[in-house]
Amino acid sequence: MEHVKIYQGNQIGGCVTVISSMINGEIHRIMVDYGSSLPGSDNEKDFDYPWDDEPVDAVFFTHYHGDHAGRIMEIPSSVPLYMGPVARQAMINIQEALGNNTHMPKEEAELHLKEALVLKDDRRVRTFEWKNKRYRPIEIPGFRIEPYSVDHSAYDAYMFLVEADDPERTSGKYITVHTGDFRAHGRRGHRMLDVIDFYIHKRGKRKVDALVIEGTMMSRPDEKVLSEPQMQMEAYKYLSEHKYAFLVCSSTNVDSLASFYRAAQTAAIPYSRYMFVYNEYFMKQLELYTKTAGRFSDVYRFFRIARLGSEKLLHHKKWDKPKSQREFMEDYGFLAVIKPENYHEHFIDEFMEAYKEKRIDQKPVIIYSMWEGYLQPKNSRGEDNKAFNKKWYEFFKRQEAKGVEVKHLHTSGHATTEMLAKVIDKIDPQDKIYPMHTEKADEFIKLEIKEELKKRIR
Ligand SMILES: [Zn+2]
Repeated sequence: MEHVKIYQGNQIGGCVTVISSMINGEIHRIMVDYGSSLPGSDNEKDFDYPWDDEPVDAVFFTHYHGDHAGRIMEIPSSVPLYMGPVARQAMINIQEALGNNTHMPKEEAELHLKEALVLKDDRRVRTFEWKNKRYRPIEIPGFRIEPYSVDHSAYDAYMFLVEADDPERTSGKYITVHTGDFRAHGRRGHRMLDVIDFYIHKRGKRKVDALVIEGTMMSRPDEKVLSEPQMQMEAYKYLSEHKYAFLVCSSTNVDSLASFYRAAQTAAIPYSRYMFVYNEYFMKQLELYTKTAGRFSDVYRFFRIARLGSEKLLHHKKWDKPKSQREFMEDYGFLAVIKPENYHEHFIDEFMEAYKEKRIDQKPVIIYSMWEGYLQPKNSRGEDNKAFNKKWYEFFKRQEAKGVEVKHLHTSGHATTEMLAKVIDKIDPQDKIYPMHTEKADEFIKLEIKEELKKRIR
């Protein structure tokens, strides 16, 4: 039997995998991810999974990005949802923030609050449990699923090894590895190949039949990839020279936020430099990462954080009078996370004004740390870039026209093509390779992998 079926695999985002097993002549299925196509993809409307005709017994989420977990509310309420514990809380924070956003149309806001309730439901949502130095495998009839932590631009992301029952095979099992989104150039990613040796292959005692692997970077081969520590070093150099720095970075990209936060701290020694963030929701995410990821490593502890735009006066025993937040920022410098939207532009303008009035001696700058593609009207082949964000593009052009420098400093959440090849070779799937999350599935054949593996690419 064919155990793996992929939907919308030929685009970046919104890819859905269904894995089947056979018990007593009956097919059972589990799903990995159910998310939405990213804005700008060819798909006008996402496919609808046939829940009634091909029911699934559970949905497993690799991570919390919307293109992987964005369609939770469309999943029948009888289907249990499996995810990482921190991912779950991060998703609750996101849905509650959207639901309480007063600018959101009421019906839409209510839907987000409903989703938060679904995520909080312990009967429906089951989280992966860390025990004896590994995640406890999940047994459901016909399947045994082993979650493994991977490095990605979302924290608490996973790849899965799925053993599916198949009485037609001598082993009685069909083993699939689903990588989810991953990379090797983050702080933890270099361990992935060892994880494959020790846990996936059990040091040569277990073989894998099928590999489902992401291929985002296949269409971005020229993208220069810094490691996360290299980016932190670049940020440190830049922040040492620029005391008044705004930052555009995703609220859930904890590794990059940690890089910038650390860089800002070291750049400001012996003083401390605060990281200001634009709303309560953002504060909540940083607090969540400090409490969870921060337990494993100092890198993820965010202490000097504050809400940008707070009107509370600040006190210190060494000051003769309290300072407003703006005075504090002018005196000590800052790293402040904003969105490239009109309603945050006044923050930049205030510091440009302070510079003109000679209250501060440097102009403010902006670090853009998101995918470059959002700001490029054309792609590398000169075609219209579907993911281009005109509003953002104009925002940055406008700032540059005012004399505000925009520094581009970002590292991808996805594996380089070299890493994809290494993972394929290392997993060494005996039966099939399914590229997904890629616009260039046909180019997997050009990767530097063993010849026999090339024949297994679907
Ligand atoms: Zn992702």
